Amino acid sequence: MSFTKAPLLLLALGLGFASPSFADDIGPAKAPARPKNIVIMVGDGMGPAYTSAYRYYKDNPDTEEVEQTVFDRLLVGMASTYPASVSGYVTDSAAAATALATGNKSYNGAISVDTQKQPLPTIFEKAKELGLSTGVAVSCQINHATPAAFLSHNESRKNYDAIAQSYLSTNADVLLGGGQSYFPPELLAQFTAQGYQHITRFEDLATITQPKVLGLFAEVQLPWAVDEKDAHRLSSLTQKALNLLSQNDQGFVLLVEGSLIDWAGHNNDIAAAMGEMDEFANAIEVVEQYVREHQDTLMVITADHNTGGLSIGADGNYKWDPAVLRNISASPDTLAKAAIGGDEWKTDLSRGLGFELTEEEIAKLNVARMQGLETMSTAVRHVIDNRTGTGWTTEGHTGMDVQVFAAGPAAGLFNGHQDNTDIANKIFSLLPKPKKVKEPANSAVN
Ligand SMILES: [Zn+2]
Repeated sequence: MSFTKAPLLLLALGLGFASPSFADDIGPAKAPARPKNIVIMVGDGMGPAYTSAYRYYKDNPDTEEVEQTVFDRLLVGMASTYPASVSGYVTDSAAAATALATGNKSYNGAISVDTQKQPLPTIFEKAKELGLSTGVAVSCQINHATPAAFLSHNESRKNYDAIAQSYLSTNADVLLGGGQSYFPPELLAQFTAQGYQHITRFEDLATITQPKVLGLFAEVQLPWAVDEKDAHRLSSLTQKALNLLSQNDQGFVLLVEGSLIDWAGHNNDIAAAMGEMDEFANAIEVVEQYVREHQDTLMVITADHNTGGLSIGADGNYKWDPAVLRNISASPDTLAKAAIGGDEWKTDLSRGLGFELTEEEIAKLNVARMQGLETMSTAVRHVIDNRTGTGWTTEGHTGMDVQVFAAGPAAGLFNGHQDNTDIANKIFSLLPKPKKVKEPANSAVN
């Protein structure tokens, strides 16, 4: 039987399972109706073309079948992403994250403030009021737009220093990602005074056994996953965040972001994009496993918008060949840097790309190489685009809908079409009701 047809079949039968693969182990009978823990995962810029491309990138060419990915397995619906009308139909990451964190539309650039620049209550704030723990694990700097909208309020995403400073008052339990540059010693001292353990080395993650933690593992964003193929940084951060947050018996809300999918999209870099997709998929699998073992945990995954107008096939050719991407040994940025400096650049670049460059490709690259790193990086990406049949329509965002994926208690709430603000409002509705004043343990159940 074709796996790819199973979700459609279930939808056609009107079955409300969030995910067919979960139907066996997490049936409605066993799982609670309301989750104790909620994991929100955002693939920044991850429009539907990215999950399709990722499927073919991961396909085993030795089998007739195109294997299902974690995205195919968990898909439940779609979401519109348009911002407040003042910003038109195409959102940026800040307005989209504000929608996902607060359930309200705002202008592009807004960090959980409304169009009048007034703060909007966030899921994290509500969770904290209710005694839950909160945390973020991201591959960008932790004060970048998406995590910032969950943790802070600011009239502009560009106020990086003020946003970093504001995290002091969030009482968040787990802050893991990049961003050392935005946390000067004086600010770090204030965090440690509040009981945060501060680490910067990835190896030191293992030494952290309880919250709170401020882990900043890069000056700005984490390295491209494709440059560190076995590092699995985002999945390690995600696993650590789950371990730490689950120590709260009241429950937790965790945000995980595959942040650099968007950055690769802005660069029109399919090799880096597939590396980031793979790392985000790994992080999803970590959470999926947690949800299997903890039936009181809901995971909801979406994208904030689509980046780059990625197309699978380009220039009228009916072809997309991801084999090239599987063999590539480093990001185009890294390969270009080496090619600029090296004498044997043609041989080295061919080796790095995993294929023999043609005379025509070498001629173009040679011209680009004289013009500096940026032009050389772009030229390397163009060679990869031509070889794979990858197309792009913009270096910015596009306004198409994004997918929604979910598993665990109440996952069915996210079925079908919704707006990105609906996702947040559904999550708000799933948070526990405020506790009444403490009653004696033996009081009657009401
Ligand atoms: Zn973007």
